[in-house]
Amino acid sequence: MLQLDNVQKIYPGLSPVVALDGASFTIRRGELVAIVGPSGSGKSTLLQVMGTLDRPTAGTVRVVGDDVAQMSDRDLAWLRATQIGFVFQQFFLADYATALENVADGLFYSGARYRDRINAADIALQRVGLGHRMHHRPAELSGGERQRVAIARALVGNPAIVLADEPTGNLDSVSGGSVYQLLRQLNEEGTTIVVITHDRDLAAKLPRRIEVLDGHIVADVAQDEHQASGEGD
Ligand code: ADP
Ligand code: MG
Repeated sequence: MLQLDNVQKIYPGLSPVVALDGASFTIRRGELVAIVGPSGSGKSTLLQVMGTLDRPTAGTVRVVGDDVAQMSDRDLAWLRATQIGFVFQQFFLADYATALENVADGLFYSGARYRDRINAADIALQRVGLGHRMHHRPAELSGGERQRVAIARALVGNPAIVLADEPTGNLDSVSGGSVYQLLRQLNEEGTTIVVITHDRDLAAKLPRRIEVLDGHIVADVAQDEHQASGEGD
């Protein structure tokens, strides 16, 4: 689904920053992976590179088998629009648009007709438990509901992988917990999801944890979910 091989990212400037150095891992279909590390460790850079929003300085990134270095900006835009769903800490919803319209926007580049986009958005909002809030604007929704709208927008095109950067960073612990439950549910329904977080407790609850420190992958471990989450069975 997604493969990084020896990826390096250097931000040039007066004092260049080595944000990623020798990052390698593979994310397979159906996985739910946490990428965890302290602030400044390179997590968002990793998401930008994984999501083809930025090109690495060196190394290889493959998304659904294709080496993104070989692709034009136009092909990459298409790859992002059809294969990758993004969720960010700041939601990035249009204030003037309803939840339904915001989610339908996730299909803007698909070429689908307006009516089909709206129908798909309706289904996606029901999946995230917001069927009763479709005609509300972001200002009329709670933080947790806004993030659910953003998740529905990321999902509506049925992407190969969803990349979420600190999706609960702007939420209180109750809304954050319910957003996590939602991501877990969507993963159980088949969506491949990578969640970036600085919250170690949260990361410990997911089936796989990749740790980043100073641009290096310092751990990549499978975790016993029941034990880690304290849910028992
Ligand atoms: P995290 O998301 O883990 O907090 P980032 O990937 O945002 O970390 O940043 C990693 C390092 O790269 C930090 O030292 C940060 O200051 C630096 N950095 C991030 N973006 C840029 C940029 N556009 N230009 C220069 N340096 C950057
Ligand atoms: Mg970050």
